[in-house]
Amino acid sequence: MRPELLNPLFTEITALKGVGNALAKPLERLGLARMVDLAFHLPTGWVERKRVSALSHEDVGQIIITTLTATDYRAGGSSRAPFRVVAQDEAGNIVTLVYFGKNSGWPRKLFPLGEPRLVSGKLEAWSDQLQIIHPDHVEPLNSDHDVKLREPVYPLSEGLTNARMNDLIAQALERAPELPEWIDASVLGSHHWKGWRDALLTVHATPESREARRRLAYDEIFSGQLALMLVRAASRKRKAQPIQPTGRLRDAVKLPFDPTGAQRRSVMEIDGDIAQSAPMLRLLQGDVGSGKTWVALMALLGAVESGMQAAMLAPTEILARQHYETLRGMLSGVPVNIAILTGRDKGKTREATLMGLADGSIDILVGTHAIFQEAVTYKNLGLVVIDEQHRFGVNQRVMLAQKARLNPHMLVMTATPIPRTLTLTYYGDMEVSRLDEMPPGRQPIKTLVMSIDKLDEVVDGLGRHIAAGGQAYWVCPLVEESEVSDQAAAEARAEALKMRFGDRIALVHGRMKGHEKDAVMERFASGQASVLVATTVIEVGVDVPNATLMIIEGADRFGLAQLHQLRGRVGRGDKASTCLLLRGNALSETARARLALMRETNDGFLIAEEDLRLRGAGDYLGTRQSGEQKFRLAGDEDISDLIDMARDDARLLVERDGGLDSERGKAARHCLYLFERDAAVGLLKGG
Ligand code: ADP
Ligand code: MG
Repeated sequence: MRPELLNPLFTEITALKGVGNALAKPLERLGLARMVDLAFHLPTGWVERKRVSALSHEDVGQIIITTLTATDYRAGGSSRAPFRVVAQDEAGNIVTLVYFGKNSGWPRKLFPLGEPRLVSGKLEAWSDQLQIIHPDHVEPLNSDHDVKLREPVYPLSEGLTNARMNDLIAQALERAPELPEWIDASVLGSHHWKGWRDALLTVHATPESREARRRLAYDEIFSGQLALMLVRAASRKRKAQPIQPTGRLRDAVKLPFDPTGAQRRSVMEIDGDIAQSAPMLRLLQGDVGSGKTWVALMALLGAVESGMQAAMLAPTEILARQHYETLRGMLSGVPVNIAILTGRDKGKTREATLMGLADGSIDILVGTHAIFQEAVTYKNLGLVVIDEQHRFGVNQRVMLAQKARLNPHMLVMTATPIPRTLTLTYYGDMEVSRLDEMPPGRQPIKTLVMSIDKLDEVVDGLGRHIAAGGQAYWVCPLVEESEVSDQAAAEARAEALKMRFGDRIALVHGRMKGHEKDAVMERFASGQASVLVATTVIEVGVDVPNATLMIIEGADRFGLAQLHQLRGRVGRGDKASTCLLLRGNALSETARARLALMRETNDGFLIAEEDLRLRGAGDYLGTRQSGEQKFRLAGDEDISDLIDMARDDARLLVERDGGLDSERGKAARHCLYLFERDAAVGLLKGG
């Protein structure tokens, strides 16, 4: 239950006076629903006003406050011309107040003729006349609305003025309570940080509030780390079945390669974890092509050797099927029963699979989220491998951990190398294994950056490539965030290529039905189609070793990590591969630098660090981090500067007071609720 002290912060904004339907939309657009949202809506800058008694050309360009009296109105000659109010200052200097828009009733009401008004706005000169366009404040003298000399500027949306926003935020801040201190006294002291409420008021009141902002950022980072530590502690307390692999099945796997040192090391780390009676929670990070599947297979087989079942969860239907086929191939001749279950399996097949899981005749299950639906019961599930961590955030981990009947060891694989700070920020509850060594004998991928103006040459090159029996991917540009327009772009490209290459061209996009996608992928994998035109739905996992050419249109619009992932689709066999990055012509410096980096290196960890540096953490994880909370107060710099301290602080607190029952622990609960880590608090007794 949320501590009562916080209730005023979690009331709806609509409870404030004067917030009616007209403000509902603009507030919603800004994501502002409750008082706490307003309190954390921080200023981006400040208006400085100058108080003047007489207008002067010297003040042109300044935002001034002065007393003006309207003497005349000038309606515009045409409907588009502005409405003008002619006014005088106390010394008799003339200024024109300019209002665009149809409604002349409004300026007339603001400026009744002959009545003085306190006016603020930016003074401008138009030929030799002074004017103010849309003054930002017009108040009767002696009104209780004082116009401040210095006023914070907030992010706004249409229909919401800065004055209004200031007013709403002031009301929200009035309701902000004093909260018990959750930051360790020594940390607080060494940074000269103020208490929470004090810091919040300071951030809204003065531009020089760097330390106060830092404190709020720290609160946010700390709440995240604390949530992760609680997840970790809760999972440590759970009982899992220890797994002692015998090697009986692992040794029966016959593959044409020896595992790399990094692969062996990862399996050893996994074996160390799963031998415990607390469930493993381990992240396996490895670049595309680093051989995560083999590691996963060893983990799955380890569980089966111990008489348990194992499951592998993939983010999409296509990937589930591909994993299933790959694992089946690797398991040929190994006495193991493997099955697949996705949302598309219905009727008899599904029934049979459910039976096999319940009676234990299925050893390994591969599938999408369907494998954790209520109807699915396992005889004895010992271990789960989860592929593509990005779609499986902390909240989902908490949920899975809370399903008491599911207490398996968990191995989470991610194909996107994640920079260290982000690993701590988002996966601080997990142990980490890194596949930092590529299997030997890989042909390096040659990367070229070309202008889209050379499209004809690119298509000619593609023609020669497929005439020689090669296959290629053609990835179409991301068009804003709309799937529909991505699809349109891909369809148009596929049509154009078909004119020349006929049915050697296949198209796959995100809005196709599962079985349609599978059919297309099958045509490509079997070699019937030579070119797969795709939106980024093919981004992860697809494995066609004969495809050695990757063309990425609009490459400047992709993130580096994403480009790296796409590039990793080629270079999988023993033939040399090429990646063509097609760029637009108006490139920013950053975009140039990013494409150049892609050309120069193939090291995913390096690219990840650079991408983070160039774009920032929010963008880096971007929309892929679905279900994961974004930071609203902490910037990238705050995160990298404060993460270690927050982590230590959180770990120490949980070690000393795992139930958060001490005075400080209780205070920390406020912090968790403030940043809506309710799920983590739910792990505490009487949370
Ligand atoms: P990831 O899932 O990490 O992107 P995969 O597990 O799909 O990579 O492996 C990529 C390719 O490398 C596969 O064809 C796989 O069979 C092969 N492979 C894996 N490990 C090795 C190794 N140690 N030596 C040679 N080839 C390997
Ligand atoms: Mg893979």
